[in-house]
Amino acid sequence: MTRPPGILYIDRDDARRSRIWHALSRAGYQVALAVTALDGMEQAQRARPDLILVEGDLRDARAHHLAARLSTAPGLSGVPIVALTAPGRTPPHQAASAAGLDGWIADSNEDRILVERVEGFLDDFYGNAVTGTAPHAPQDTLTRLETSLRELEASNRALRRLDRIKEDFIQLTAHELRTPLTTVYGYSRLVQTLPAVQELMARDPEVHACLSGLIDSIERFHRAVDEIIVVSRIASDHLDLKRSPTSLPALVERVLHDYTGVAEQRQLALRARLDRNVALFFADTDLLELALSNVLGNAIKYTPDGGTITIYGDIHDDTVILSVQDTGIGIDPDEQEQIFDRFYTAGDTQLHTTSKTAFRGGGLGLGLAICRGIVEAHGGHIWVESEGCDPERLPGSTFVIQLPLERTPPDARR
Ligand code: ADP
Repeated sequence: MTRPPGILYIDRDDARRSRIWHALSRAGYQVALAVTALDGMEQAQRARPDLILVEGDLRDARAHHLAARLSTAPGLSGVPIVALTAPGRTPPHQAASAAGLDGWIADSNEDRILVERVEGFLDDFYGNAVTGTAPHAPQDTLTRLETSLRELEASNRALRRLDRIKEDFIQLTAHELRTPLTTVYGYSRLVQTLPAVQELMARDPEVHACLSGLIDSIERFHRAVDEIIVVSRIASDHLDLKRSPTSLPALVERVLHDYTGVAEQRQLALRARLDRNVALFFADTDLLELALSNVLGNAIKYTPDGGTITIYGDIHDDTVILSVQDTGIGIDPDEQEQIFDRFYTAGDTQLHTTSKTAFRGGGLGLGLAICRGIVEAHGGHIWVESEGCDPERLPGSTFVIQLPLERTPPDARR
């Protein structure tokens, strides 16, 4: 039996609510009405309509808020949520998707036009299954397959929408955290340099331990938030490169300098082997530094005390090659791809026996995902070469970053 498609319409305006109800009911839809977001949500969860229409201009924060609440409400995945925008207003497509909506339908004072638009949307969204124009066929295998396919498509759409909302949320939260954290981070570094504090730390080992622990944690927190921001920019394709003249020796020196303290503590030899002819090239120096720093930081984490880490820098034809070779525990071949995925950590990073000092334990599993995003944004590749993971034999790993050599500034290109 074909049932009339159900539509839930949410609107605070009495006159418009009643006009829409008449227009759609006369066309054969089963129309339910709600005035408030809360009422709308309850009704939607109870009746699971085929379409939720939300009155609102997409520039209006209320419509965004309502859409976000509905699209994440339990039991409503796969139900399209669509804005009914004022007649004659055609919002950009991105506005609907940014609001977490499945689209928008422009209202019309002519009932016939409005009904056609709603019908058109439902046809596009479900095929003709919901509008009920297809003759009712027995539930043979093909029909069941079609139904499953449609359900899969609907949940896929819902998942994509949730994913977008999640990315926005992560980005927003990380940015909100970053501002006060930068101040705390700055003060924590400043405090360390104050003579009175230095004197106190030298005099009292307990003060020294507390303050060092505090500063160390703030630094890790700061790094984690920065990583989350870069990784979410990479995920949403918003990593804009600011290319400037980049000197490979200077870049390598800066990165090595950051780790000299920990290398000394752990008796690790840090070496650089650079091709003498390496000239300036155009790259986003800060991001490249972040990528190289992550790779070097890992090499230090996963190399036992007393080991050697070497950075090689070279230019072959039109390619810049940077590699970081360590004498550490190595990486199993079947993990050499996955370690570049977000939140992937190989093995138990807390238990490996090599890093006894400041790098105790692993990070969030974001470092290499960030490196890959940065390198690929430059049009390059990053990979690892290692015979396997063996904490006894220490086969080591070599991470290779390959970038196309950009000799001209961005403005001079094209
Ligand atoms: P994290 O931020 O946790 O260090 P990464 O994305 O940087 O995460 O690295 C992912 C995983 O790759 C690590 O958990 C570790 O298992 C492995 N790994 C990275 N670099 C090395 C290395 N030089 N030697 C051995 N394992 C490594």
